[in-house]
Amino acid sequence: MLVNKAGRGMTIWYNLVRTRIDLSVLEHNFRLIKAKAPCPIPVVKSDAYGHGLGAVATMLARCGAQTMAIGTVGEGMALRLVPFSGKILSLLGPLGHEDYPALWEYDIMPLVGRKEQLELLEEEGARQGTSLDIALALDTGMSRIGFTPKDMTWVRDWFRKSKWVRPYLACSHLATADEPESREFVLQQGRVFSSMCDSLEEVGIVFQRCLANSAAIQAYPELTFDAQRPGITLYGSSPFAGTSWEDKGKGFCPAMEVRTNIVSVHDLAKGAPISYGRTFYAPEDMRVAIVAVGYADNYSRGLSNKGEMLVHGQRAKIVGRVCMQMTAVDVTHIPGVAAGDTVYLLGGEGEHPISPEELAGWWGTIPYEVFCLLGQNQREYVGK
Ligand SMILES: *Cc1c(COP(=O)(O)O)cnc(C)c1O
Repeated sequence: MLVNKAGRGMTIWYNLVRTRIDLSVLEHNFRLIKAKAPCPIPVVKSDAYGHGLGAVATMLARCGAQTMAIGTVGEGMALRLVPFSGKILSLLGPLGHEDYPALWEYDIMPLVGRKEQLELLEEEGARQGTSLDIALALDTGMSRIGFTPKDMTWVRDWFRKSKWVRPYLACSHLATADEPESREFVLQQGRVFSSMCDSLEEVGIVFQRCLANSAAIQAYPELTFDAQRPGITLYGSSPFAGTSWEDKGKGFCPAMEVRTNIVSVHDLAKGAPISYGRTFYAPEDMRVAIVAVGYADNYSRGLSNKGEMLVHGQRAKIVGRVCMQMTAVDVTHIPGVAAGDTVYLLGGEGEHPISPEELAGWWGTIPYEVFCLLGQNQREYVGK
């Protein structure tokens, strides 16, 4: 099993791309979340959405987070070694056999949604001689993982007999909380969740309820329940960008900025092609900058002829295909650009910083993926 030193040593090492994380911005976002989420379990899976597990978890613990959620059990072990002494929720739960003893050794609470997992946990509990808190995964409409309403009868019976497995949380996940037009489906998931939880409580099974993700924390106060699982708003992207609920995501600021350097600057004569496949021909005499970033740095080739960068505070459009480690941008309208200058791929100074939503739009994805991928570059921290 992979346990890396919590957010270090797993970055792309061969490039000039630098990802800067402002921890004071993350702290600001966390305070804003806490205004609506009384008992937040911040989600720090996937290296804290590319922001670095160690630094982010340390900041969150300092700001009072008592429980955090990660993905795999291996990530939970890395979080324990940060160190973090609070409760750790593993959203993927135990998969391989080696995961089971690790839950006890590292004191990790797994999300469990299959009968086989419950049975292996019961066996491991007997071996360890101590019980384990778990989170029950309830499928209320996402159809990804978890017990369904039909399973509730045997789940109730199973827990009445279990000696070593204690439900501490019941969790479900919302499929459409960020879509204003899908409000009815969200409320339907909420009703199914409540009735599944009620049916367990009726037989004396005691646990906390946890449903809301970032979007629901901001838009559905009626789904606050006992605990909440904020992710994307912590990292400063609004789940409602570009929707009629734009206002509900106000105030969150991106904490990640990504920059690199210019390799060379040259003229491109009218009619000349640039980069692989000649997908762009200069419509007039131009000046282009070759930037030290490409798809090997997780800057998607899908940005070819679509994306923009920030050069000297001004927007520069990508021309031609994104290569493995180089990308050309049009700097005809920007005076004084030279080799060695800094270029921002995300964020940046001045009035036109590149937002995660904008970059995701050019890329054909969502800010989550932009953060996870660009965050794999070498990180620097400010605002500690
Ligand atoms: C990732 C994740 C979250 C966080 O979702 P956001 O939309 O980033 O707030 C919450 N719960 C589960 C189960 C998740 O996998």
